[in-house]
Amino acid sequence: MKKAVLYSRVSTDEQKNEGKSLEVQKDLCIKWARENDCQVVGVYEDGGKSATKTIGRDGLDDMIIRCQEGDVDFALIIDTDRIARNEFDHFNIKRELKKHGTQLVAVNQPMIDDSAEGMLMDGMLASINAFYSRLTGRKVKKSLEKKCEEGWWPGWGPIGFVNKNIGTIEKPINIIEVDPEFGPKVTEIFKLYSTNRYSVDDLVEISYKIGLRSKNGKKLCRNVLYAMLKNVFYTGSFKFKGKIYNNAKHKALVTPEIFEACQRIMDIHNRHVCRRRKYKWLLNGLAFCKEHDSRLFGDWVSHKGRAYYHGHANKGCRRYLSLDTIEKNVAKHLQTIQFTEKFTNRVIEKAKELVKQSREVKQQEIENVRNAIKQLEVKRNTLEDNLLDGTIDKEAFKRKHGEFDVQIQNYENNIATMENQGGLDVNVVVEIVSLMKNIRQEYEKASFEAKRHYLSMFFEKLWFDEAGNIVKSDYTPLFQHLIDNQFIRIRANWLKDRNLNITTYLDQAIKVFENFKLMSELRQELDKLKSPFVSPVLATT
Ligand SMILES: [Zn+2]
Repeated sequence: MKKAVLYSRVSTDEQKNEGKSLEVQKDLCIKWARENDCQVVGVYEDGGKSATKTIGRDGLDDMIIRCQEGDVDFALIIDTDRIARNEFDHFNIKRELKKHGTQLVAVNQPMIDDSAEGMLMDGMLASINAFYSRLTGRKVKKSLEKKCEEGWWPGWGPIGFVNKNIGTIEKPINIIEVDPEFGPKVTEIFKLYSTNRYSVDDLVEISYKIGLRSKNGKKLCRNVLYAMLKNVFYTGSFKFKGKIYNNAKHKALVTPEIFEACQRIMDIHNRHVCRRRKYKWLLNGLAFCKEHDSRLFGDWVSHKGRAYYHGHANKGCRRYLSLDTIEKNVAKHLQTIQFTEKFTNRVIEKAKELVKQSREVKQQEIENVRNAIKQLEVKRNTLEDNLLDGTIDKEAFKRKHGEFDVQIQNYENNIATMENQGGLDVNVVVEIVSLMKNIRQEYEKASFEAKRHYLSMFFEKLWFDEAGNIVKSDYTPLFQHLIDNQFIRIRANWLKDRNLNITTYLDQAIKVFENFKLMSELRQELDKLKSPFVSPVLATT
């Protein structure tokens, strides 16, 4: 009999979400183990942990250590996002497990094998997870919206408020109350700001003095105070997924008049800094100065009125490289990466297969829950008969009926969560394939977040010379693997702009047309597979 270990994780935000609770995750993994004739030899979990870092996740470490003993065939998780939200961790963990003969299986996702195309898909899914977890609010969850409709903000209350469960552990009723200590202090800060006599920096100091502090007793950051002054939550309403809910049940800490005054003051102050704030630093953490072995940081040089990346002075690097130049060079550099035609086709085949599998897996899961609901409904009907027969009294009927209703509601929430769960969606596949076909073009039209996502998929470090040219690039483990196996060609000076002649133009035109044709064919084919409940959440950016 084969052996399996289970790993489940919930983040603090997810703890209250039925669909992802540790129990649900464990159940799904155990079910997989049973269906695949596996003996479960270890159960590991991390409660209230975020996947953005692997540090400090004891459960995960213990699981890996257990697998290192060498006799474990499968490590089961429900989704790849349980393991890591960035592809480097994901790749490394998977490789470590494989070294000891353990295969990582995401039971809610179709099986991704260890072929090169499987690995690319896997890496891309992992980085798509990483990308979407960076965007505010992860996937629409019907149960959360329901909470909003009821007038309760579905997350942690902002500073000045506390979350409270006034129900039981089994049947929690989570509400948000004013924090008796911090609440009045928040009101005070709003009032001070509305007088227009204090800057946000002044208020950082004042907050600290009156005892309005961060969880670990430190000064609040400027950004936290800014966010606080801008948050409509304090006026007794809230915003969720872009929608304002005025039916909020939590108490207001600030009157609409004072809040409005604060917004006006902030607008006036921000007008002077908006030019600076427009810049986000695409290459922070990625760009390095080759000569001084120094990281390059994005900065705004106000007397020149321009944005630069500059080195670390104590590493001897006093270089200032124009933001425009080096970001443009990065885009150009992407032209050197080219997937081979053969490999691209293999990925397309794999993608089609995976979308189909993903749909089937999801449909089966949902079908199972629907059946469970049906059974409960039958029981509920019997109960009604029993009341009519007089076999049970009204009190017992009410209690039992209520229990069934709660269970059915929970199951329905589960379905909503499953329907909205990532998995593999047509749009993701189209995104992956069009990226493979023309990296630079896709990159140029992408949003800031998507650009960062693409770069982090390809590169660990980019090294620049004094003119802002890229002299060396360190690829991510995944991409290095693909290059080593000649699935990707790296060309020096591929299609230098000034060398374009009429033939190359024609070639390019034909390529663009072929890509277009291929993409629309692929989309049509995949649309046929598209199930009615695949959500468009992962639409291309
Ligand atoms: Zn330097």
